[in-house]
Amino acid sequence: MRARLAFALLLLGATVRAEDAGQPVTFGSRSSESFPVQAFGAGPRVVFDSGASDPIAAPWNTVLIQGFLPDPAVTFEAKRAGGGPPDWTRLEMHRFPNGRFWARARATPGPGRLRLRALDTGVSRDHAVEVYSVETFVANPESSEASIPPSRGPKDPGAQRPFVHPRAEWKAVPATEPYTPDPLPWRITLHHSDGRYTQTLQESLDEVRFIQDFHIHGRGWIDIAYHFAVDPLGNIIEGRPEGMLGAHTLDDNEGNVGIVLLGNYHPPVNNRPTVPQLAAVAALGRYLVARYGISPDTLKGHRDYKVTDCPGDRAYATLPALRRALVGAPAPGLAGARRTAASLSRINAGSFDAAVLGH
Ligand SMILES: [Zn+2]
Repeated sequence: MRARLAFALLLLGATVRAEDAGQPVTFGSRSSESFPVQAFGAGPRVVFDSGASDPIAAPWNTVLIQGFLPDPAVTFEAKRAGGGPPDWTRLEMHRFPNGRFWARARATPGPGRLRLRALDTGVSRDHAVEVYSVETFVANPESSEASIPPSRGPKDPGAQRPFVHPRAEWKAVPATEPYTPDPLPWRITLHHSDGRYTQTLQESLDEVRFIQDFHIHGRGWIDIAYHFAVDPLGNIIEGRPEGMLGAHTLDDNEGNVGIVLLGNYHPPVNNRPTVPQLAAVAALGRYLVARYGISPDTLKGHRDYKVTDCPGDRAYATLPALRRALVGAPAPGLAGARRTAASLSRINAGSFDAAVLGH
């Protein structure tokens, strides 16, 4: 049967999107793509062609994408749009059993727009492929630029950490290099993962494992960037160990605890932060405030440091209420526990619902 170009772009009107160091790449302002793939038999045939991307500000030599790919018979290729040879370069595909994938290709360093296409080499059934994000970069070292910490408040070594699902639960691999100790954090940054809005703890553990692989092998970092992930059910999952330098906020990682919400809280996806999720962030934040003497005012969104839509409009809108929830961090013991419970019940009583969730 004659191969038919079967691509359709649903989507999606987002603007700038990035995690760190990578430059977000958009196509006609779209930052993510979804296209159907139909089972036609033997390939390969092109099932998606992005055309030239919007202009990319800085030179690049690496293309990195991530998303959801149900059938491993789909592969991706990239090229510098409008240029001559070299022609299409196959992306190295890394696909997880649950369909999450990231893929990367190297190119000669230089400026220019990106063109991306997908090939079907013989999928077994009709389905849709989703590309959640596309980024380019040159070198992507973890930033460890020093900054001057502000004066700290009182520290409480006995502060109770809320339950955190340990790395072993998601079968973390060890960091590829020794961590840089960063034992006295003084600020907290909220992110979103730009990935799956998970529905079960197991899905969340799988997603965190995916993110670690994406960060280590896709971006070339030593471990998952964030210290904690919080899923829509309110589970807190350990990322990079507390007390070690993170890699989530370029040039501002020093003293910075990174918390990522699993999901995409920005248009057009617009996942909603849930009340249990925000309560978990508040509990974690109250612990960090108490333990390290962090000022609640230092709880910020990734976009407060650089041009990015992270953590998404809907998560960003929760920050004022979250900061209020961190004031008066609990002392250890019963009194602190009571205050925490009272605070969380206030949250559940509707302040997040009304003011934060926007409905
Ligand atoms: Zn971020």
